[in-house]
Amino acid sequence: MTRPIRIAVTGPCGQIGYSLLFRIAAGDLFGPNQPVELRMLDRNSAEQNSKLKGVMMELSDCAFPLLAEMTACPDEKTLFQDAECVFLVGARPRGPGMDRADLLTANGEIFQKQGRALDEVASRDVRVCVVGNPCNTNAYIAMKNAPSLAPHSFSALMRLDQNRAMARVAEKLNVPVKTVEQVFVWGNHSNTMYPDLRFLRTGGRRVEESAFDQEWLEQFVPNVATRGGQIIKARGASSAASAASAAIDHMRDWILGAEGKITTMAVPSDGSYGIPEGLMFGFPCMCPGEGQYQIIKDLPMTPEVKQRLVVTRDELLAEVEAVKHLLP
Ligand code: NDP
Repeated sequence: MTRPIRIAVTGPCGQIGYSLLFRIAAGDLFGPNQPVELRMLDRNSAEQNSKLKGVMMELSDCAFPLLAEMTACPDEKTLFQDAECVFLVGARPRGPGMDRADLLTANGEIFQKQGRALDEVASRDVRVCVVGNPCNTNAYIAMKNAPSLAPHSFSALMRLDQNRAMARVAEKLNVPVKTVEQVFVWGNHSNTMYPDLRFLRTGGRRVEESAFDQEWLEQFVPNVATRGGQIIKARGASSAASAASAAIDHMRDWILGAEGKITTMAVPSDGSYGIPEGLMFGFPCMCPGEGQYQIIKDLPMTPEVKQRLVVTRDELLAEVEAVKHLLP
């Protein structure tokens, strides 16, 4: 039988975790022939009735044929021991009176600790996707605190933003979303992100901007960037199943390959497009498989797009400055 892949998840009892775990165990990440081992961080393991216990009871009751083993882990070192695939989802929500800088520091401390633990015990070939916000900077902190792991082992989730952009285009053009290609998102997973439509194709054919009316085009970027807020308003809770689904898309394409499709990943910059080296920035990437990705280089830039990239880059640089005490 194929050896199970060891997957570690933080925040397993949160909204996203509750969707993600079941999708992974059902085989949505590595396909129908690959068994998986789930390791989950149990922050309340000392309590008799930890919430995770209930989640694991449900996982067991699904009788997933691919779920070879699952373990509740009381600390990061146990969680990440020999982990090959890691989803860092758990993060503190913004509390009353907390500003963005407070949130950055509070969450940064979590990712500093997790980066150090990954450095010590994870598989040398691990692939890490950070979901917990502010995800780009959290991923940067984890990467910097794991100097013995390759920087390209770390990434942050921007696939949800790409998926949202693709869905808006499909709705507008009235085409199936699976035909929409070459839409991607630059920068930070925040309101400064820049979803780029310039290379859009549907059904293999280029779609010019003139296919859209001006009003829709003007609303497109803010519509994608504020979709999370729109969902909170409509659902009374933040995006969860769609975030989990995007995290699966991100990791699957990264590890197994994206079949020649452009995919958005926040990854350490290699200096392309004037983005300082190492900054965890959303780029259009190609994923050839086997856990590799390549940032697509030398795309033509207009002054407007350049300016958008400067804005989101500067926001990320300010975030990094705010957490510099958490960097080695
Ligand atoms: P929830 O509030 O439902 O769950 C948060 C989880 O984080 C809980 O499981 C909680 O654990 C855990 N947690 C809280 N504090 C800590 C800590 N100090 N150390 C480790 N884990 C901790 O949040 P969601 O599941 O809805 O969202 C999780 C994160 O994902 C958020 O930061 C959210 O902003 C982000 N997100 C990112 C998206 C993206 O595209 N990048 C999209 C949507 C959300 P416990 O149960 O033990 O308290």
